[in-house]
Amino acid sequence: MKFLNINSDIIQLEEGVRNAFRWNWIERRDGNGDTIGTWCKKINVAGQAYCVFCNSLLKYGGEGFKAFTNHSKTVTHIKYSKCIRHSITLSNYANSKNTDDLLETDARPLDIVTRKAHQEVLITSFIAENSLSFNVAPNLIELCKQLSRDQTALNSLEMSRTTACYKMKYKLAKTIKENIIKTLKETPFSLNLDESTSNAKESILAILVQFYDNNQNEVVVHHFASLKMESCNSEAVFKAVVNTIEDNNIPWANLISVLMNSCNTMHGEKKGVETRLRSNKAPHLLDIDG
Ligand SMILES: [Zn+2]
Repeated sequence: MKFLNINSDIIQLEEGVRNAFRWNWIERRDGNGDTIGTWCKKINVAGQAYCVFCNSLLKYGGEGFKAFTNHSKTVTHIKYSKCIRHSITLSNYANSKNTDDLLETDARPLDIVTRKAHQEVLITSFIAENSLSFNVAPNLIELCKQLSRDQTALNSLEMSRTTACYKMKYKLAKTIKENIIKTLKETPFSLNLDESTSNAKESILAILVQFYDNNQNEVVVHHFASLKMESCNSEAVFKAVVNTIEDNNIPWANLISVLMNSCNTMHGEKKGVETRLRSNKAPHLLDIDG
């Protein structure tokens, strides 16, 4: 199991949020009323951007948005900005548009570094706004790449909260559970049991299963069931486990060990869940605590 490094995650969150704000500022206007993105392009150096009006580097590291407004107020920047605004190119003349209009609706294609920075902002903002783990970042990007392969389908894709819930509960979860049950009938497995309290203050017994997956060539852990319990004494837990195994016609011979926390309910020498399982259902059970 992987544990998060809390400190480095907080630093990453702060960095991510700060970057997100920084690049959202690109959509905002500077002291002269120009959209910052019109003249500021991100370059491949941390903390630096490029002003296309002045043809010069702009260091924003540490200062954030202020660096952009300050730069837009410099004499040089205003001079070049005016220069560009008041020059009319031939093509614009033909379209009877002045450069000012064009700057307002700047439709020039953005360079790849700026576009990449924008996408990084979207990803980090999404993670921050939805309180997701930073671990999802690479998978999230992979997901976007997969989805974007079929633009037509993606454009018409819609899923409400209730639809997502329905599809997860009655379609995906059902298929996953059926596959796990099929595997448990054919493969030796271990159970991991733990009681916990849900947000609604209900006692929940979580049952995880662990087995060697021949397709992935490694030992995998899957969630198998979360059972609402009236009581969490050892008899109730024992019955819940027995029902779960027997209702799904999983042979007891395949159960090789049970992993639990070391409380008396689970491990009690005479009436603990493990003892009950060993004496009633699976005498071959491995004693993994010694
Ligand atoms: Zn400038």
